[in-house]
Amino acid sequence: MFAEQMLQIPPSILQDLQGITGFNEQAFVAAHMQPPPVSVRINGAKDIGLFANNEKIPWCNGGIYLPERPVFTLDPAYHAGAYYVQEASSMFLDHMLRHLLEGNTGLRVLDLCAAPGGKSTLLASLLDKDSLLIANEVIRTRASILEENVARWGHMNTWVTSNDPRDFTKLTGYFDVIVVDAPCSGSGLWRKDARAIDEWSEANVEMCGERQQRILADVWPALKEDGILVYATCSYSPKEDEEVLDWLAETYDTASCVVPLKEEWGITQVQSGKGMTGYRFFPGNVKGEGFFIAAIRKKDEEDELRPAKYKPCNDKKAHQQAAYLLNNTDFLCIPGKEDFSAILPAHEADLLLLKHYVYLRRTGLPLGQPAAKEWLPAHDVALSIDKNKDLPAIDLSRDQALLYLKREDMGIEGAPKGWLMVRYNGLGLGWVKSLGNRMNNYLPKHWRIRMEIPE
Ligand code: SAM
Repeated sequence: MFAEQMLQIPPSILQDLQGITGFNEQAFVAAHMQPPPVSVRINGAKDIGLFANNEKIPWCNGGIYLPERPVFTLDPAYHAGAYYVQEASSMFLDHMLRHLLEGNTGLRVLDLCAAPGGKSTLLASLLDKDSLLIANEVIRTRASILEENVARWGHMNTWVTSNDPRDFTKLTGYFDVIVVDAPCSGSGLWRKDARAIDEWSEANVEMCGERQQRILADVWPALKEDGILVYATCSYSPKEDEEVLDWLAETYDTASCVVPLKEEWGITQVQSGKGMTGYRFFPGNVKGEGFFIAAIRKKDEEDELRPAKYKPCNDKKAHQQAAYLLNNTDFLCIPGKEDFSAILPAHEADLLLLKHYVYLRRTGLPLGQPAAKEWLPAHDVALSIDKNKDLPAIDLSRDQALLYLKREDMGIEGAPKGWLMVRYNGLGLGWVKSLGNRMNNYLPKHWRIRMEIPE
């Protein structure tokens, strides 16, 4: 069935691809008769040695190929954020930024088109704790999926916003790095989604190219002078790739960034008409899907928006009550609509500035809220890499963990009373409240596994 679908790549499209640097029709068509490679990226902060003997993806720390696609939904470690299922080519962002950022710390990074969260979780693993990552997704429904994945990954310095790119325009010179993984015509994903072939058209490529320019124009002022813009698509079309780089070079003062490659990776380094460098990934040449990525340094002068003077925002009482949840008391406890959240003191000024410009959907780590006699812990704490390792907990078998994730009764008796974190292979999964004779499952309803669990 797979080969049948893939053979339907219209000859007109293959014709269009002919002129593109690095395109090898025979290898491309042959690759489209194979299923796409399966790959995951390990969360370094939750590494329990999964897939340790599998083939590594050479351009990404923690990137691993799997020989076949397991049912990830049935692996509690996946729900605990031990790894992210991500296409291999797009993990090249890791190689690119490791080279360009050279271990810089305390950066402000915006992932503008972030859902479902592949690049954001990669960035969270790559950045140091003092850096602040804003994962933004304009489409509300997609922003909630992004938020779930960010929660699973467990990094306090990843915040989620849900704004249109133009809302960032006024944050002049604020970000050191902006990643624009732009909405595109999607030709690079034909192998994963054969329907995309039917939806592909020259007119759509044209429309996407124009939208990509608009998005970049909106967000460009928010990049610092000498800051780095990473532009990526999963389209092969020069109109969405090289021509967008040329438009940037014509419109702004830019310098193109080059990163080292190994020949055996099969990645094609391309040059746009205006001399901008990009990297293109063709299935057949690369063990991954179609992808394009480029890094551009901003040379325009830009005044940096600085936070005004501000009042400290830590709620001391809530901080005192919630401090037992984390492994370190060096955080600020800030009130939200319902929950309090923990942020690092280094990001207090960012909070006060950002909240004037964008809708902060998730600010740091949700901690929960006080109730009459106790603290109601947020689900996110169990997934956090900053949680107190000595919180009362129970360890679950795989079957029990799957029942927990279905919000069903796990049949556990004799557990001590009170709030208990549930763990699988040492990884936090969520909370239950033990009442002695029964246990209430506090997994958020919308996180519940819906599929039937095979015997
Ligand atoms: N970076 C994501 C990842 O690695 O998981 C994938 C991003 S996907 C290629 C592009 C995203 O852009 C989608 O989530 C889509 O909802 C969002 N998007 C769509 N239209 C947009 C627009 N006009 N401005 C900004 N983002 C948009």
